[in-house]
Amino acid sequence: MQLHNRILLGLAAGATTGVVANLLAGESHVLAETVRLGTEPLGKMWLSLLIMMVIPLILSTLALGVVGLGDVRRLGKIGLVTLGCFLGLTAISAAIGLALVGAIEPGRGLDPAIKTSLLALYKGQAQEAMGLSGGGFGIDLLVKIIPRNPVAAAASSDMLAVIVFALVLGGALSALPKEKAEPLLRVLDSLGEVTLKVIEFAMKLAPAGVFCLIFSVTARFGFTLLLSLLWYVLTVLAGLALVLVVVYPIVLRLLARRSPLEFFRGARLVMLTAFSTSSSNATLPTTLAASRDRLGIPAPIGGFVLPLGATINMNGTALFEGGTVLFIAQVFGLELSLSAQAIVVAMSVVTAIGTAGIPGGSIPLLMMVLKMVGVPMEGIAIVLGVDRILDMCRTVLNVTGDLVTSTVVARAVRPASPGPGAGPGADPAASPGAGPGADSASPPGAGP
Ligand code: ASP
Repeated sequence: MQLHNRILLGLAAGATTGVVANLLAGESHVLAETVRLGTEPLGKMWLSLLIMMVIPLILSTLALGVVGLGDVRRLGKIGLVTLGCFLGLTAISAAIGLALVGAIEPGRGLDPAIKTSLLALYKGQAQEAMGLSGGGFGIDLLVKIIPRNPVAAAASSDMLAVIVFALVLGGALSALPKEKAEPLLRVLDSLGEVTLKVIEFAMKLAPAGVFCLIFSVTARFGFTLLLSLLWYVLTVLAGLALVLVVVYPIVLRLLARRSPLEFFRGARLVMLTAFSTSSSNATLPTTLAASRDRLGIPAPIGGFVLPLGATINMNGTALFEGGTVLFIAQVFGLELSLSAQAIVVAMSVVTAIGTAGIPGGSIPLLMMVLKMVGVPMEGIAIVLGVDRILDMCRTVLNVTGDLVTSTVVARAVRPASPGPGAGPGADPAASPGAGPGADSASPPGAGP
């Protein structure tokens, strides 16, 4: 059975048993302990197995991606198209989230009693997130993007700083004479291969890992809560669906000149992994593999666009943030002026860039946006209970947006890249950028 089918099976089995367990024994101590001591830690361990390889993966694929792209002038064009796509898609998504919540107004009808009980129930978690939200956006944040100590940046999972380091390393490597660069290129190449091997093993465990993660979420989930926040949840889901089935296909057709159907067929496993893990970072290896093996994106382009995208391009997150800020404002009976709404869109884009690609990564940053436009930060408590479901869905968009961008970039630089994996000087980059063969159908290192 192909890997994506096995994952789907794990997902369906986890969801069904979890929902049934919740309905039959939602309050029981035994179920709570089974999740706390069994499925949840197992699911988290599987997720960590994927996430632990992300730093070496980003370092090797991004540095080799830059080397594989060759000419620095080409890198400039690719960089511009990539950033333009990232920012454009993120801003459109945030605006859609805001517009839909503004039109449907799911916050106006929320029962005040439910509001009060949610505020009390999730107060602790909201305060925890408030602690993580830090000091807001100062110039320091920009300064810190260039790490003084790349090892410390990696140790504190400061992905933006790791990315900058990898880009500089790749740029310098491509400027060196071949014989000087060669030894380090080989090391990076080997590092990438090792990383992919580990991920390949980890993906073999994916059906079980996904089962544990989804069972833990559904067995514990407050389905009554879902019902009381149904309009909010449905509005956000409708926004996400709109981007997925309208915005992306338009971009694919017009800018990448690709068939959306074919694209989605190629992106299936990626979307499934994103949904199950709620983590762009954990999905990155699968995204890299699919871009090369299933979508025919040249390895250096995928190696450049996708690690960047997993860190800074979060379309679903921006949509969720824009919509949620307005929803919470509605619940508190606040009006957001047009200029405040414009600030929400802009800040959703900026905070989406800063969001870590891990489950719930956007919550602390969402609180910053709330604060900035004068909506009570503790209001986050109202949505925390349903966040995991929304997180699963917005992560699908986050990674699909990265793949959409990589197809646009591949098209934009097409004349200079004759075929998949054939970027100039692409040799060393070809294999790590090429993905882990995460799908059993595509062994590691196999070209498209
Ligand atoms: N879970 C999301 C991701 O990894 C981030 C978020 O919106 O919380 O892409």
